Amino acid sequence: MARYVGPVCKLCRREGQKLFLKGAKCVSPKCPFESRNFAPGQHGRTRMFKQSEYGLQLREKQKVRRIYGILEAQFHNYYKKAVKQKGITGENLLRLLESRLDNVVYRLGFAPSRKAARQLVRHRHFTVNGRPVDIPAYQMKAGDVVKVREKSRKLDLVHQSLRRVREEQQPNWLELNKATLTGTLVELPARQDIPLEVNESLIVELYSK
Ligand code: SF4
Repeated sequence: MARYVGPVCKLCRREGQKLFLKGAKCVSPKCPFESRNFAPGQHGRTRMFKQSEYGLQLREKQKVRRIYGILEAQFHNYYKKAVKQKGITGENLLRLLESRLDNVVYRLGFAPSRKAARQLVRHRHFTVNGRPVDIPAYQMKAGDVVKVREKSRKLDLVHQSLRRVREEQQPNWLELNKATLTGTLVELPARQDIPLEVNESLIVELYSK
């Protein structure tokens, strides 16, 4: 399936916000967004126009899609699922995205970015509840346990990434055991547990037109 393979830092500049797509670089002074906080392209610096309501909704959707690295059709499917669930559709949408296996692997700190997490999952480095799973979009449920596979316990990428994990930054809906390289999804996250600066209701407005 086609995926965006261009320079990802441009995406942050396009959205006017750090999307944290590159792991350690995102929290270092080398982050290009720190020095070039304007849209890419010839007119990026000077472009000053008021966005239409549709434009704002579209940008919000693109932003969330880019954060999770999801293509349009798949993203729309998540929206349809979110509509069918009880509760607030926007929050359901974010909860579904957060409980994807690749995102859980990233949030636990086994990978420095969602992109790296996706690749690790695809290469079968994890089990869920004891079974190898290589589907990044695998939907985790409360109580599910993700573990680095025995053959993958020495992976440098995982250990380097875990060294950067600070306990106070760990989401309260996940539980990490660094010694056993295991993580548990204790409960599905509420909106306040999802540290994203996005207005998900704009996405709902866009799709419900
Ligand atoms: Fe965005 Fe990270 Fe690149 Fe900074 S380093 S512009 S946060 S992807």
